[in-house]
Amino acid sequence: MNDWGRSFNRRIISRGVTLALSIVGVVFESAWHAPHSATGPEKVVVLTFDDAVKSHRTFVAPLLKRLGFGATFFVTHRWMDDPENFMSWRDIGEIHQMGFEIGNHTWTHSDFSSPRNAARLAGELALVENELQKVGVSRPVSFAYCGNAFGPEAVEQLDRLGFKFARRGMQPEVPYGRIQIGPIFDPLKHHPLLIPTTGDAYPEWTLEHFQTAVGRARAGQIVVLQFHGVPDPKHPWVDTPPDRFQEYMDYLKQQNIRVIAMRDLGRYISNGKRPADRLLKVRFPEPKNGVLALPGEVETTRADLSYWLENMLIHHRYSWDEIAQVTGYSVEEITRKAQELGQAQIAGAPGDKEGETIRVLPYPGGRHPRIGFLEGAILPQRGTKASVFLPWNPASYVVVDLPEAIFSNLGLTYLAHSHVPTIWGGASWGQPLNLK
Ligand SMILES: [Zn+2]
Repeated sequence: MNDWGRSFNRRIISRGVTLALSIVGVVFESAWHAPHSATGPEKVVVLTFDDAVKSHRTFVAPLLKRLGFGATFFVTHRWMDDPENFMSWRDIGEIHQMGFEIGNHTWTHSDFSSPRNAARLAGELALVENELQKVGVSRPVSFAYCGNAFGPEAVEQLDRLGFKFARRGMQPEVPYGRIQIGPIFDPLKHHPLLIPTTGDAYPEWTLEHFQTAVGRARAGQIVVLQFHGVPDPKHPWVDTPPDRFQEYMDYLKQQNIRVIAMRDLGRYISNGKRPADRLLKVRFPEPKNGVLALPGEVETTRADLSYWLENMLIHHRYSWDEIAQVTGYSVEEITRKAQELGQAQIAGAPGDKEGETIRVLPYPGGRHPRIGFLEGAILPQRGTKASVFLPWNPASYVVVDLPEAIFSNLGLTYLAHSHVPTIWGGASWGQPLNLK
């Protein structure tokens, strides 16, 4: 049984004090530290490989090792049930042992550009980290947006989680699928969590095209290349033929270009003030029909705001900060809405009196319902949780999961939080039973 299974999801929160009952740069000054050689400034290329394709282990990594190149492999669990064409965690551990960087590319490889999906990004990243740890790979500092889709909420999550670098695609500057040169990474202009792809390797690429992309590298401008499988039998639209790849790498060697992993970019940019990249406010792609998908729990709270305000303010005694988190509004917005609903004055009002019978109410979320073992309860879902208020102390409550887990003949079918994967995968994640 896993750890989470042993720990019952119970705890008491008492008057704001928690009692566990749980068994359970420097403004980028010139930003560029590249030495000048007799042939001019050093040219730098970042090599990245997405999707944990088998050929990364069998062909790419050994070749790059021989050439003395650095590279980042962005791994995802998404296709690992096809071990013939995709790497196992063990393969990934071996690539790490060879000295290459392993970056996080999420568990389900979904589109994280919407607020709804960005809300579950932390859980997905943790699932990958958990598997990496088992094969001796420490927590990644680099991330690649799946399908090159990004949005402000995902950037915020990555920042909060301590990621240093995140790579996007050539979009929105260059439309997807077009053989063109994308933006060259400029640390003075691009935010390190929105590093653009300069060259996205499509099967139609030729050595000439590769040379053009690489030729853009100059002092303070770093070329970032995005590859998938070499070859990539299951995703032929991003395939690179091995002999052509060999030509590309030989060219980099002949030209004496410095080839690095994404994590090595730290040497070329300062960690001080980061540029006010205009794309920090941009979402790619734009939502279909202009409707932004919010996290399910945020939407249901907003749909019945009066009920939840009373639940949070009177019974659970939430702060306005906590309420803002649950509702997805700013503190200003939610206090204004509470005033409009005539509920602002109930903040801090006493709940029920001592000696009453046990009351059970839906748990509003926002506040973590566990003490300790937090890493085993990533993304606790409120849909299955109820707060049982204690008659001898109405300010205290125990959060129970009904249920915490459902097993079926298919395996772990549902879990009330993220930590171990369930058969739901991406689509139904976060859409569980709903007590309210
Ligand atoms: Zn990918």
